Amino acid sequence: MIDNNLTRRNELLSSVNRIVVKVGSGVLTEENHQGVNKEVVSQIASQVSTLSKMGKQVAIVSSGSVAIGSRVLQVPRHGLSIPVKQAAASLGQGSLISLWGQALNTEGLRVGQILLTHDDLANRRRFLNSRNTINTLFDFNVIPVINENDTVAVHEIKFGDNDTLSARITNLVEADLLTILSDVDGLYTSDPRLDTMAKKVAYVDDVNSSILAMAKDSSTKTGLGGMVSKVNAASEAARFGVSTIILHGTKKGSLVDAIKGKPIGTFFFPHDDRISSKLHWIEFSLKTSGIIHVDDGACEALLKKGKSLLASGITLIEGEFESGEAVEICNKEVGIFAKGLCNYHSFEAQQIKGHKSTEIENILGYKFYDEVMHRNDIVFFQKSDPSKD
Ligand code: GLU
Repeated sequence: MIDNNLTRRNELLSSVNRIVVKVGSGVLTEENHQGVNKEVVSQIASQVSTLSKMGKQVAIVSSGSVAIGSRVLQVPRHGLSIPVKQAAASLGQGSLISLWGQALNTEGLRVGQILLTHDDLANRRRFLNSRNTINTLFDFNVIPVINENDTVAVHEIKFGDNDTLSARITNLVEADLLTILSDVDGLYTSDPRLDTMAKKVAYVDDVNSSILAMAKDSSTKTGLGGMVSKVNAASEAARFGVSTIILHGTKKGSLVDAIKGKPIGTFFFPHDDRISSKLHWIEFSLKTSGIIHVDDGACEALLKKGKSLLASGITLIEGEFESGEAVEICNKEVGIFAKGLCNYHSFEAQQIKGHKSTEIENILGYKFYDEVMHRNDIVFFQKSDPSKD
């Protein structure tokens, strides 16, 4: 019998060139908090080298700074206050990058460290600068090793966890595959450690509420985000047309085996209608600063006729935002259906709402654009997107 999922998986993998490999703290560090498992680092480095010899470009997103640093400071790994966590990250990051450096050097590869905050990626200029740096590292055959810049990131500027960071990185480096190395070998229908009936899910077409419910019941030992954040990362990558594989990271050879076509782990299929890098950046990297409510005519023009948003269709402005910030678009029948960059400050939008574009100059005394939001800067949410449920 032909396994269509396997055929499709192999087809997708055959054209993979650039891969993000996310390595969780649970994979790198020993369970009893005794430090880093150097053997695991070496075996992952050796697989990265194999992939590199196969002509693939690999970027590593590695956790572990807090786990390593907290051991040095002799404080527990979990439940730390933010300043102690940041201090631990500061101590641990140096060791983490040197571990990767040593392991990859042994394989004849060099390492470039990249530390990022959410703020860095939300700023278009810094996003593009980071992309250029990483592309240059690839040109020199250097492996970028990326982590969150934990020492400066607090609350609102935190990615939250490295699963989310790895999904953002797939866009940043324009990867075609995200692999998440975990301490479990994929998504299970329930927690395999508690439920003997738990079954591994081999393929996921769409991260819907039933997949999320399974992820909530599943668990990982050490990772910050657990299975839910891995599944959400896969969903975010799928929007960008990128497949994701969740794999057991400490099983020797699993990364290369999976990429060569062995059906291990959980494979998440990408969406067919991938959105562009810029729209993906708007949807996921930008925080929403307000909501613009539109009438039915504007809603239809946006959803069905490929038009931009004009002031005449706006009925209500919620929140305060600068021009160029991201706002959501809402209609009373459809709900929130899109997000985009607004060409006007909320204060200006308040004044011009409901008016024709030809009246903008009279009202404000100037006019930047006819469109309040340009079509090319608007991303439409997918119905199945779990974060919009
Ligand atoms: N950036 C954190 C670290 O290096 C990890 C966050 C996570 O585990 O997701 O320790």
